[in-house]
Amino acid sequence: MKDLPDAFHTHLAQTGPTPIALDIAHAEGCHLTARDGKRYLDLVAGLAVNNTGHRHPKVIQAIKEQADRYLHVIPYGEFIQEPQVRYAERLASVLPPQLNCTYFVNSGTEANEAAIKLAKRITGRTRLMACHRSYHGSTHGSLSITGNEEKKYRNRPLLPDVQFITYNDLAEVERIDAHCAAVILEAVQGDSGVRPPTAAWLQALRKRCDETGTMLVFDEVQTGFGRTGKLFAFEHFGVVPDILVLGKALGGGMPIGAFVSSRERMALFTHHPVLGHITTFGGHPVPCAAGLAALEVLLEEDLPENARRMGALFKELLVHPAIREVRGLGLMLAVDLGDADKVQRVVKGCLEQGVLGFWFLSCPEAFRIAPPLTIGEEQVREACAAVLTALG
Ligand code: PMP
Repeated sequence: MKDLPDAFHTHLAQTGPTPIALDIAHAEGCHLTARDGKRYLDLVAGLAVNNTGHRHPKVIQAIKEQADRYLHVIPYGEFIQEPQVRYAERLASVLPPQLNCTYFVNSGTEANEAAIKLAKRITGRTRLMACHRSYHGSTHGSLSITGNEEKKYRNRPLLPDVQFITYNDLAEVERIDAHCAAVILEAVQGDSGVRPPTAAWLQALRKRCDETGTMLVFDEVQTGFGRTGKLFAFEHFGVVPDILVLGKALGGGMPIGAFVSSRERMALFTHHPVLGHITTFGGHPVPCAAGLAALEVLLEEDLPENARRMGALFKELLVHPAIREVRGLGLMLAVDLGDADKVQRVVKGCLEQGVLGFWFLSCPEAFRIAPPLTIGEEQVREACAAVLTALG
């Protein structure tokens, strides 16, 4: 056998030329421990996944209990699997009444794919409107509505009849017309460097979609489950989507995605033709059990409130002449240095000090702060001190 780093670079398919390649031995709460024993304060949370912290005891217990009962038993939708049903029911209890029916899939990108299909079924239309600088996933449909040409050009042809509007541009709302099946947007743009929407823009979108019979789809894959300081980001703005797309923290650290709409709309998948969206592993009982336990933890420990408080503390402490702006809501933050090289230096400098930060796909001049929502004041102070030291 090769040594582990060698085997990693040789036999495991790579996504880029310079992976961090930390060899993780253990994770707990807000910390990762590498095999060499070095501990890291985690400001990434598996990319907005581990909202309840790594290995929360209640989540681990739910996983073990479900593993002792059954794992995969049948493709999605045929059997009554208690963790799926109870999770869908619980989601309905924390969402507005028109978002009462959940379809579980495997990932954020699959949830977006299926949301597109549902919008087409509901409206009988094909046109999709999405936003410049958006990110919705890496499969062909999600890539088609992603507003980043660099990620797309090698993959054409993509879906036809997709148009782009500018996030937060009120004038562009008028371009939505009765040919549009859906307008799809991130409730806060994430990978473009954390860009929150204005309430006025979202309200104008809601009004225009109502006028034209267009489905308003919010991708809350990254913003969901307390990340922005509310359970779901749309709650900040008083605008409810027709279809809500979920992923990442939905599974409490296990892989799963979902989209949520009304029972009547979701029922369209069951006829003409039947099996409108199908998946073998979607809604696997272990991620459902883990996700349900994580949601209860989020609510019991009021982690959205902690995200608000700790997010404010980051903004208060991260003051330095090199920091142009700390943007975002709750614990979905971008520290904008206005310079990609500086970002690389600071992320590396933090890592040396045992603090894990991370960059964005489409915003090289800023780095992200998105720790577990369980992070405490001491840890925020430690993280900010590391950033300021790295900045010099
Ligand atoms: N939508 C948004 C807003 C995302 O941030 C991501 C992942 N970063 C996705 C969709 C895709 O999710 P996944 O990687 O689970 O397919």
